[in-house]
Amino acid sequence: MTVPPKTAPSAAPRALSKNHPLVVHREALLGCRRCPDVYPPVVSGRAVSTEIFFIGQAPGVHEGSIGQPFAWTAGKTLFRWLATIGVSEEAFRAHVYMTAVIRCFPGKAKNGGGDRVPSREEIETCGAWMHDEVQIIRPKLVMAIGRLAIERVAQRKIGTLDSVVGPLHQGVFFGQPIDWIALPHPSGLSSWHKMELGKRLLSESLATFAAHPSFARTFGTLT
Ligand code: SF4
Repeated sequence: MTVPPKTAPSAAPRALSKNHPLVVHREALLGCRRCPDVYPPVVSGRAVSTEIFFIGQAPGVHEGSIGQPFAWTAGKTLFRWLATIGVSEEAFRAHVYMTAVIRCFPGKAKNGGGDRVPSREEIETCGAWMHDEVQIIRPKLVMAIGRLAIERVAQRKIGTLDSVVGPLHQGVFFGQPIDWIALPHPSGLSSWHKMELGKRLLSESLATFAAHPSFARTFGTLT
């Protein structure tokens, strides 16, 4: 059941100085044009002080003009899920560093079934930015949203989402020891999270997130 957001700390961003490495990094990232087949602008979350690192797949067609990730329909679903554990959209954006497997809109798929899946080369190229972000932030908890992001963190092909969504995982990500959790992609094209098993595992994953020490340190105690 959805409960209204009641995130404990102020939703105001923790301001970083203009010389902070993450602010400098983000400025450079926004100017990136390394991939010839994607559509700028680069979309990035805010430069915030955090220990929670969020990875989506890629911006959609609308996010570039709006200037923030998960700003359209998939975002509405994602933030509805987070509201069930008491985290508002504004608090999440203000206290979690939001990244993606690639940061530019990849274009539509030729078969018309949604957005083009980023190529291996694009994922590796954009991964250099993610590598640097992990070195700067040293995250303790990584949230991977959707198959591409999950496989990025797991560093292996996953079978079905059933095998990874729900529990807490441990791993090493760009040299940094992390805990990580998997969530399905909230795209309307996916039906997995609308099925009975998907709904249950999604709920377990959100509960795993809410029970993690990084959650309490970031959002306070919500009970
Ligand atoms: S997808 Fe990533 S590496 Fe490629 S142009 Fe955009 S920001 Fe740069």
